[in-house]
Amino acid sequence: MSIPTAPPSGFRDFLPQACAARSKAIETISRVYRSFGFSPISTSAVEDLAVLTGKGGGENEKLIFKILKRGDKLEAAKAAGELADLGLRFDLTLPLARFYTKHGSQLPHPFKAFQIGPVWRAERAQKGRYREFIQCDADILGSESPLCEVEVIQAILTAFEALGVTELTVHLNDRRLLYALLDKAGVPEDKRGTACLLLDKLDKADPGEIWAEMAAQLGADPAQRLKSSLSPDSAGLKEAAPDIFATLEGIRGDLSELIGTSAKVQISPSLVRGFDYYTGPVFEFRHPKLSGSLGGGGRYDRLTEKFGGQSVPACGASIGFERLMLLLEESGALAAAGPFACVTVFSEELRDHALEAAARLRAAGFDADVYPGTGKLKAQFKYADMRGAKVALVIGPDEAAAGNVKVKDLMTGQESLETLDTLVARHIER
Ligand code: AMP
Repeated sequence: MSIPTAPPSGFRDFLPQACAARSKAIETISRVYRSFGFSPISTSAVEDLAVLTGKGGGENEKLIFKILKRGDKLEAAKAAGELADLGLRFDLTLPLARFYTKHGSQLPHPFKAFQIGPVWRAERAQKGRYREFIQCDADILGSESPLCEVEVIQAILTAFEALGVTELTVHLNDRRLLYALLDKAGVPEDKRGTACLLLDKLDKADPGEIWAEMAAQLGADPAQRLKSSLSPDSAGLKEAAPDIFATLEGIRGDLSELIGTSAKVQISPSLVRGFDYYTGPVFEFRHPKLSGSLGGGGRYDRLTEKFGGQSVPACGASIGFERLMLLLEESGALAAAGPFACVTVFSEELRDHALEAAARLRAAGFDADVYPGTGKLKAQFKYADMRGAKVALVIGPDEAAAGNVKVKDLMTGQESLETLDTLVARHIER
């Protein structure tokens, strides 16, 4: 049987251009998160299954990539019991809650953290939905203030803006507001879960079908009352849970002032978010060119308790990096540049000159790539072209003797003879 050379479904390889674009976007997001006072943290990719299960991860718990026990323990487990003891993290929030419970005493209080890294979910793969994908999370632990929601959302919107992504809508809600609306509509408590699951599908499936299913599950009247109470301008919205509505309005108002017209913020009472660990406001970032969400988050005040720690108020959000990259690829905003120079190697005898020229360029702050080997200059120029370099340098016997380099501008094809110093000075001036 031949060995597959494509990665498994839902996993991807990235060519150098794509890697460069991804690194650039990650640098931008990190810079923005830092500018808001979030400190970088890093948690392990693999967690004990006890960390990942039973902590409010919702449907994602069913999508955990589990890791088999190893060696004798696996043999013993085959006879009886659970074969796996570890799993790949499916989000960055549960690992953060574990991390904070373990290390909180060494951290500032409140603590503002950011983490950018891969997570894994055994989903059915499709465009924009992968089994391995990067999330970029920013969280504030240790504060109940709605200022946290404002800061986290503003940080994420600022990161999007820095990457040239506009036209975003932030949808805000609070499960407690939704539950109050369900109560008012006459939906019994034991049907809340069903109603929420259906509401969560409203923007992913045909709304007509969802409401028909809602009527079948809840009864025609409660379903109809629920539908009319969910409109953002329904009067019943404010009355259903006045305090919660006021908090959401406060967050919305602060954000609208801070971000001006660069994004829209609206209260969307049907927003559910799949995680059960949320205890307060939840939010989602949507873009007209994407069917799913571009990011989301919320308040999860009791999560650290589940790790045996104290109850610590917390709020955070995640940028779905892969969907962001889909948007950026479409707009061509992140075309990656190659190195400044490719230095050709004229011959074995002259390779020291090539190495030295590259070292001097690097010391002056320019990326320089030495052709790895010797060979026909034509092949070396082709390599320089494929690398997207600005210039190719040749140091043959005449140039070496005179202390010059031959510079080929790879955009125009023009050649010039000059010293490295003048080449550097010419490009620094630009
Ligand atoms: P969640 O952790 O489910 O709230 O997701 C946060 C963000 O991650 C979403 O808004 C998506 O942009 C992104 N995301 C979630 N699942 C996937 C996936 N399977 N593939 C790519 N991105 C995803």
